[in-house]
Amino acid sequence: TTAERLQKVLAAHGLASRREAEDWIRAGRVQVNGTVVTELGLRVEEGKDVIQVDGKPLTVRERHQYFLLYKPRGFVTTRKDPEGRPTVIDLLKDVPARIYPVGRLDQDTEGLLLLTNDGELAYRLTHPKYGVEKTYHARMRGNVPDPVIKAFAEGVMLEDGLTAPAKVKVLDREGGATWIELTIHEGRNRQVRRMGDAVGYPVVHLTRVSFGPLTISGLKPGAYRPLKPQEVRALQ
Ligand code: URA
Repeated sequence: TTAERLQKVLAAHGLASRREAEDWIRAGRVQVNGTVVTELGLRVEEGKDVIQVDGKPLTVRERHQYFLLYKPRGFVTTRKDPEGRPTVIDLLKDVPARIYPVGRLDQDTEGLLLLTNDGELAYRLTHPKYGVEKTYHARMRGNVPDPVIKAFAEGVMLEDGLTAPAKVKVLDREGGATWIELTIHEGRNRQVRRMGDAVGYPVVHLTRVSFGPLTISGLKPGAYRPLKPQEVRALQ
């Protein structure tokens, strides 16, 4: 490792912006090798210098990185595909860290995909017991009648049981199709498509527009960006 400015090292640990890290240093909350440091330019080496914030050591670890990708259709959500299909990792060529998708989107589904090397957070965000909400925009074939919309809200019987109550609203009806917005918090495989099939109105286009507190707005298909520190905090 090489020496880097203290505030950069603090920010790289993911929980503060560079500016906030500078405030912590000025406020005397940061110690290096047992001494409070209030100057901003100090160069430190991670793994060699002992850095503490509020008396708590900054543990040596791989820096946590978090990226939001607008996954386009046609890409599979794994690091490597045995069948050689393009994967979401192919879209993140400039990211040096070994990051992994959090959860999964079908090959034909587009939209918000979070990727990180923070395994603990990834676990919490995908485990059903934490019930992270995911919102989808689905185009369904046909003019879906209100009782079917209501069934989506109350629960639909699938092979693996009744779906939990969902938030649902009709966004638009056009060209013999119905656009709905659906918010679910279960982690079932292909859930939205299976719900559509179960009620006889198949989903022909599916976009995930939000995941917990994160939204896809501002990104175009194939584009990605790092999460902002406040977005990382909102996930924790
Ligand atoms: N539901 C689906 O059917 N597919 C997805 O990719 C995500 C949710």
